[in-house]
Amino acid sequence: MLEGKVAVVTGGSRGIGAAICKLLGKNGANIAFLYAGNTQKAEETQNTLEGMGIKAKGYQCNVADAAQVAGVIKQIVSDFGGIHILVNNAGITKDKLIPMMKVEDFDSVVDTNLKGAFYTIKSVYPLFLKQKSGKIINISSVSGLMGNAGQANYSASKAGLVGLTKSVAKELASRGVCCNAIAPGFIATDMTETFTGNEDIKNAIPMKRFGQAEDVAKLVLFLASDASDYITGEVIRIDGGMAM
Ligand code: NAP
Repeated sequence: MLEGKVAVVTGGSRGIGAAICKLLGKNGANIAFLYAGNTQKAEETQNTLEGMGIKAKGYQCNVADAAQVAGVIKQIVSDFGGIHILVNNAGITKDKLIPMMKVEDFDSVVDTNLKGAFYTIKSVYPLFLKQKSGKIINISSVSGLMGNAGQANYSASKAGLVGLTKSVAKELASRGVCCNAIAPGFIATDMTETFTGNEDIKNAIPMKRFGQAEDVAKLVLFLASDASDYITGEVIRIDGGMAM
């Protein structure tokens, strides 16, 4: 389905990002992924991807650093020969009620989750314009659609991603580039491990179960493929019905 394509996935070393790398790779894409610092997980993911017979490489890069992002995208183009799919998945949480939330905690979450996506998009933009094609997929959250007590920084960053998605979609629609967002609910990963044993949260989900990283990856595959060529500026919830 994605043979001959190169996908860049931020936060691809583990969790949802790793599942995205594996499913896009299984469908023929070559994969360049970024990670923050967990080299062991990055090596494991790279080995798994290479075992599929595709070209794959993990790059340590802090997406909150504009210069690092610009440099790594240049390096990926040189290593892989181009980029066709960009998945902005890297994200962090620093949850606190506002009186306890430090200004630095607000800034670092917005810098990683929102500005990080702006930096990668800015770096691939000229390339996608020139080739008159490209798929950009931003991983937002139902927190960004509904708000969430204790997550002012995270919700603001994820709501910001929705605005960024729609603006990029409008700028690039006539150039054959699609930009969409995905808003997951509770997905079982390291990020949510303190919640996944909580029966109250589970019962608040109409489907009565947490999602799996692979559930999100299947939606990314659809948005990365030509099956979604007439969809842009859309935000798709994947949450077992939680935010409807
Ligand atoms: P996770 O398991 O905590 O993994 C986070 C990934 O992001 C790791 O690969 C990490 O790299 C990378 N990362 C973090 N900060 C980074 C930085 N500054 N620069 C580059 N990479 C960075 O998270 P997840 O649960 O898979 O979540 C993935 C995305 O889905 C996030 O954007 C999250 O907000 C969103 N989401 C998750 C859920 C959920 O329920 N899990 C729900 C809605 C939305 P290292 O391995 O090197 O640390």
